[in-house]
Amino acid sequence: MIYLDNSATTKPCKQAVEGFLKACEDFGNPSSLHKLGLNAEQLVENARENIANSLGCKSEEIYFTSCATESSNTAIFGTAQKLGKRKKRFVTTTIEHPATARAMDLLEEKGFEVVRIAPYEKGEISYRDILDAVDENTAMVSMMLVNNETGYILPVQKTFEKIKKRFPDVLTHCDAVQGYMKMPVNVNRLCCDFLSVSGHKIHAFKGVGALYIKKGLHIPPFIVGGGQENGQRSGTESVPLIYSMGLAVQYLNNSINQRFEYINGLKSALVEKLSNLDFVHINSGVGEDFLPYVVSFAVEKIKSEVLLHYLESKEIYVSSGSACSKGKKSGVLSEFKIPDKLADSTIRISFCSENIIEDVEKLVQEIINANNTLAKLK
Ligand code: PLP
Repeated sequence: MIYLDNSATTKPCKQAVEGFLKACEDFGNPSSLHKLGLNAEQLVENARENIANSLGCKSEEIYFTSCATESSNTAIFGTAQKLGKRKKRFVTTTIEHPATARAMDLLEEKGFEVVRIAPYEKGEISYRDILDAVDENTAMVSMMLVNNETGYILPVQKTFEKIKKRFPDVLTHCDAVQGYMKMPVNVNRLCCDFLSVSGHKIHAFKGVGALYIKKGLHIPPFIVGGGQENGQRSGTESVPLIYSMGLAVQYLNNSINQRFEYINGLKSALVEKLSNLDFVHINSGVGEDFLPYVVSFAVEKIKSEVLLHYLESKEIYVSSGSACSKGKKSGVLSEFKIPDKLADSTIRISFCSENIIEDVEKLVQEIINANNTLAKLK
């Protein structure tokens, strides 16, 4: 099997699996006062420390959630609830993941003003456009770090830096899901008040995410109840999922740069091979504005889903556009000025460091085979 859908989800690493099993043995409730409870609490705190270290913040600034969608919803709706009486404007981009985009739609339905900044011809978002959209009435600017469909790296640091200089009270949220553990992510350098990450995108498990909330910032909790997570997110913590996410972070955090270089080599090889095929259009750019882990391209005469299932029959797993859009036409690709016809034929492949050059060669060979058979059927 060749798995090239790591932006959809990743295979849990050995450290995460072993951590999960250990936490199943230390099965106490982290809120219990006896030894079993304290052991479980220690596992949760160990994960909190690992994640805080990786993001350059304090442990008490990390809150565990069930997924990055919950993290982003908490930051956005919490800010709206806290500031909404005085500040009605939210600024974001047109290329956000639905976790942010749908939350913004909902705010708009509730009477907030949402300004969505679109990319230019080559896909780039301008920090100036975002800055120009921010005013004294703005509650929050929310911007993803890496686009999940193309790998485009947004200018989060530059944008948030400028915003904080001009409007220190405007809150900043970054959906860092697709950049975390693939490039350095530091909440202070990014000038974030909130930052969302997900366990299952970094070789840990589905069902766990984390939200960084800058110390001193208080937003209403998204889930109320027993007061876990310092009152910010009630519900008994999933110790196995949390502990294993912390171990995956500890394992991956030291190899971000090496893995980046390695994946860059795989992407270069893939792009070079695909560029030789006149029936392939590459949507992702190749410069430093694009994370090498994601490559989006269209095989012109074959619909995405047809090619996806053809590749599946050869045991190669890829995604059609974004996995979250489940076959629906991707609005985000059209924001990147990809014509509808090419968007309908777009495949997204996303690497992890277990992929090898032979995976790239096999993929390209099967795309040539698919073009020789499927494209000619029409
Ligand atoms: N943000 C981005 C950029 C994503 O790619 C995803 C998942 O695909 C999410 C948020 C949602 O993450 P989760 O599945 O943890 O809710």
